[in-house]
Amino acid sequence: MKDQVLKFLKEQDDYISGEEISQKLGVTRTAIWKNIKKLQLEGYVIESSTKKGYKLVDVPNVITKEEVLEGMGTGIFFENVEYYDEVDSTNLMAKKLARSGAKEGTVVVADRQTAGRGRLGRSWTSPSGVGIWMSLILKPNIMPQKASQITLVAGLSMCEAIAEVTGLDTKIKWPNDIVVNGKKICGILTEMSAEMDRINYIVVGIGVNVNNKFFPEELPYASSLAIEGNKEYTRKEIIQRFLAYFEEDYAVYKKDESLRHLLERYSQNCITLNNKVKIIEQGKERIAFAKGITEDGALKLINENNEEEIVFAGEVSVRGIYDYV
Ligand code: ADP
Repeated sequence: MKDQVLKFLKEQDDYISGEEISQKLGVTRTAIWKNIKKLQLEGYVIESSTKKGYKLVDVPNVITKEEVLEGMGTGIFFENVEYYDEVDSTNLMAKKLARSGAKEGTVVVADRQTAGRGRLGRSWTSPSGVGIWMSLILKPNIMPQKASQITLVAGLSMCEAIAEVTGLDTKIKWPNDIVVNGKKICGILTEMSAEMDRINYIVVGIGVNVNNKFFPEELPYASSLAIEGNKEYTRKEIIQRFLAYFEEDYAVYKKDESLRHLLERYSQNCITLNNKVKIIEQGKERIAFAKGITEDGALKLINENNEEEIVFAGEVSVRGIYDYV
């Protein structure tokens, strides 16, 4: 009912009386009034006047299902959007849903995570009102060894989506981060459930720091789009753009079961390439030159002995020589 009232208000240019809304929606004026109150509590600015009725004057920066779906056409990622004010982790929630039969394309979005996670169980700071904490459920018909390649596909789609919405110079730090001005503004964590030769489901978790004003001291490399761009951005626009781009890029990936046709764009956006980098592997560090990305999403290096070498995403961390990138 609340969603219907909101939709109705959005369609009006001017004030509309409670009487008229109640007739159109077939419910009492008291029910309308109650739902207006609920919307106001969520941050919608609705002016009300006893004479003229109600008018929606401002929409909050929320990422509820209704807002994410507004104005979007059809597409597999716009069919099942699940919004939560708070979850432990969107990846955990997505896994739970996938186990109970959620369809490919289901998107879990939360305003806040109490136990957001990065790779290797590291924690991911996910406060309310400022970020995009989201997970996608995928069920591609590919071999389990290829699942981590989807991280690169999602990184590419998100990098281009953020660049388009914000105009910021976004870059991919291979394999799973997006950076702006050398600072991490987005991380991606792909997890899966599989048999030897078949994937049950993949969950791609994505965290984007959109409007965070500050970060705890222990995260010197973290930043947000708002800090780097000096203005606030609308979270749902980034989600919408990303879902639309990812749908296309994911289809291209699935057709070849390879990054072949995405590699040129990925490489153009990848800040790791053509640079000296620090490779961290089981606690040991070494320097190498990052030369390219393979069709399987691995990183091609020229090592200290001037030999070509390939490293895989799950096995190493990459840093800049002096800084994070
Ligand atoms: P890595 O870059 O080492 O692969 P992950 O992708 O696993 O790291 O992300 C986890 C790490 O990201 C944490 O250990 C922490 O240092 C950092 N981190 C945690 N929360 C945030 C955040 N909101 N923004 C940026 N970095 C974060």
